[in-house]
Amino acid sequence: MQSRRRFIRTVSLTGAALLVAGPARAADAPMVDEKDPTAVALGYVSDTTKANQTKYPNHTPAQQCNNCALYQGKAGVATGAGPCPLYAGKQVAAKGWCSAYAKRG
Ligand code: SF4
Repeated sequence: MQSRRRFIRTVSLTGAALLVAGPARAADAPMVDEKDPTAVALGYVSDTTKANQTKYPNHTPAQQCNNCALYQGKAGVATGAGPCPLYAGKQVAAKGWCSAYAKRG
């Protein structure tokens, strides 16, 4: 019983440590490469002004990751980068864009 309790405590402490470490890890994640297959498929660019306007006629330069509903970095801050669930384990540029853009409500 004693070892079971210790096991449970260890597991919950480890879980808590992982939760604390999570955001720091996301901040250290590498940037999405524009040549990454998912990035190519979605037309991701690290600079929204470089988006393929012919292929994505609804794109406007005002559309940026930092005002996209999926962006997990600091909303409205046009510098830096943050995670996006479409590119697991990577970060997208705050000024980036891709065709999955959805205006933040
Ligand atoms: S879904 Fe939104 S936050 Fe993610 S890369 Fe595309 S525009 Fe940026």
